[in-house]
Amino acid sequence: MPRVAVVGSGLAGFTAYQTLRRALEPGEIAVFGTEADPAGAWRIRAAAIRQQEMRSESDGHCLPTTFPGLAFGSVRSRRSLRPLLDSVLDRYHPTVDEFLSHVESLRERSGWDESLVARRVERVRAVDGGFELDGDRFQHVLLAPGHPGLNVPEELRGDPRVVHSYEPHDYAPSVTVVGAGLAAATEWLNALAAGAEVVSVRRHEPERRPLNVPRQYFSRRGLESFHRLPPRERVERMRTLTAPSYPKGPQWDEPLERAALEGRFRVEPSLNGTAQVICATGFRRGFRSDALLARLAADHDLTVAETTRRGHAERLAHGAANDGVDVVVAMGGDGTLNEAANGLAGTDTALAPLPGGSTNVFARTIGIARDPLEATGQLLSSLHRHSYRRIGVGCVNGRRFLFHTGLGFDAAVVARVERRNELKRYAGHPLFVASAFVTWFRHYDHSRPHFAIQIGDELVDGCYFAIVSKTSPYTFLGSRPVVVAPEAGLDSRLSVTAFRTLRFAPVMAAVMSALGSGKVLRRHPRLVHHADVGSLTVLGSGPFPYQVDGDHLGDVDRLDFTYEEDALTIVVP
Ligand SMILES: Cc1cc2nc3c(=O)[nH]c(=O)nc-3n(C[C@H](O)[C@H](O)[C@H](O)COP(=O)(O)OP(=O)(O)OC[C@H]3O[C@@H](n4cnc5c(N)ncnc54)[C@H](O)[C@@H]3O)c2cc1C
Repeated sequence: MPRVAVVGSGLAGFTAYQTLRRALEPGEIAVFGTEADPAGAWRIRAAAIRQQEMRSESDGHCLPTTFPGLAFGSVRSRRSLRPLLDSVLDRYHPTVDEFLSHVESLRERSGWDESLVARRVERVRAVDGGFELDGDRFQHVLLAPGHPGLNVPEELRGDPRVVHSYEPHDYAPSVTVVGAGLAAATEWLNALAAGAEVVSVRRHEPERRPLNVPRQYFSRRGLESFHRLPPRERVERMRTLTAPSYPKGPQWDEPLERAALEGRFRVEPSLNGTAQVICATGFRRGFRSDALLARLAADHDLTVAETTRRGHAERLAHGAANDGVDVVVAMGGDGTLNEAANGLAGTDTALAPLPGGSTNVFARTIGIARDPLEATGQLLSSLHRHSYRRIGVGCVNGRRFLFHTGLGFDAAVVARVERRNELKRYAGHPLFVASAFVTWFRHYDHSRPHFAIQIGDELVDGCYFAIVSKTSPYTFLGSRPVVVAPEAGLDSRLSVTAFRTLRFAPVMAAVMSALGSGKVLRRHPRLVHHADVGSLTVLGSGPFPYQVDGDHLGDVDRLDFTYEEDALTIVVP
């Protein structure tokens, strides 16, 4: 039995196969597919929009290397150096025929047909030591089932005038094209060239971007820099790269301008009575649209819920616990995780953090990788090993926290960062540091202390700023932990660090110490540090701001803290 199964015999499965062939023989790979020709599904769609040239540069081929690219092949077949020169300027596009003959020759020499199993896979199940595909076992499985069908807007389904742009079609004398991406732009030009009158119906004005994905994404170095981006930024970048668009240039604009002057092209807000409606609306999206992926998720009883507002994660997690769910995976930042922890505290449902925020303090504290893919691998392995741990949490005025609550100055900084929520996504730590300075110099009242802290019989008065830690570090600056209470941890009670001064020199000394071991910080004469605290009360000399696990919760006069033992189950690496 082969070691690796590839499900899907389209171009993605084919490219994966070429990569696997670097290390494995054809007999060690089984490719499951309904079509022997790897370009079979693609060929029909490309022909439907009358595509002549590829939308990819020299590097857009099916081998796991950038060199030699398709431009080298074109030099031979076109008997000209022009393809190479064009490629240097990023202006080369192989023809569809050149690309298809590249696929064909690779298919012949790579052993593809030998590995092909002409069968549709109905079910993939994880079993000990690998996976089972409809009864056959494999060590590894790669899923490449492709686009899960064509997307036609709900209101147009069943309308006899409708054809999808990726289905073979001719043009009626009057045509409405729905959409504003490359397929739509191609349809406008094709239909005009066929003599039709064209109406464009679109939700947004088309975005104009170069045809090709920037070439950096085809090189190892370019991809490495992409993978180093924080997860949110990566998602944003993918969104930009895949957003519908078509290129600038007279070949796209002039035919439309001419046709508009002749009264043969216009934009309208909604469908009218044209004879033909072409949906240039791409593919359906999401794993639920693919039977195999939907079943795989269902087999693992995975329910996906998206949060849409503050407090939503808490309600969703609480509902999941009431429904007897085993594990809630919280994919998001510390705020989402805190809400989920509040929804699950006191129940047996375990919480698994998956980093999706800008800092992800708690996930990193317990050793979860910053990269979401790596973190998902860790999570699957932890679930497999039943690696659960029951922990205590902090509680402040009824709200639980996992790593810390900040009172006074740092809460004012967090409030300032939250006002720039959009920037937070991109600027991350530099924004925190800049906000700390601005808050320090302009927005925080240094003239008087703001609260006193009662810990047992001791009253610590004259406090300007305090941190109640549940775990350590307090946060991370880049990859550097900021340590305020080194003794704090998953098994410890609360630690309290109170600043009885906000003068620049001692605070800077404390910050420098926190970026190291945190020891100097605890010895400072104007700082008070208590470890292993079960409860405390903070009494304000007026309202003061506070933040819980990085979420600003407003201003209060009093805060009551308790340590809640045995409160929450978490999944640990
Ligand atoms: C019109 C058009 C033009 C494009 N032009 C370019 C271009 O110029 N350059 C470029 O780089 N990209 C281009 N793309 C993008 C490119 O087509 C896609 O990235 C690529 O075709 C996707 O390949 P795929 O294997 O993921 O999917 P598909 O081509 O859809 O293949 C998936 C295959 O898997 C099979 N399958 C699915 N489920 C199962 C199952 N359960 N068991 C067995 N088999 C299964 C399907 O039957 C199908 O044969 C273009 C896309 C379109 C639509």
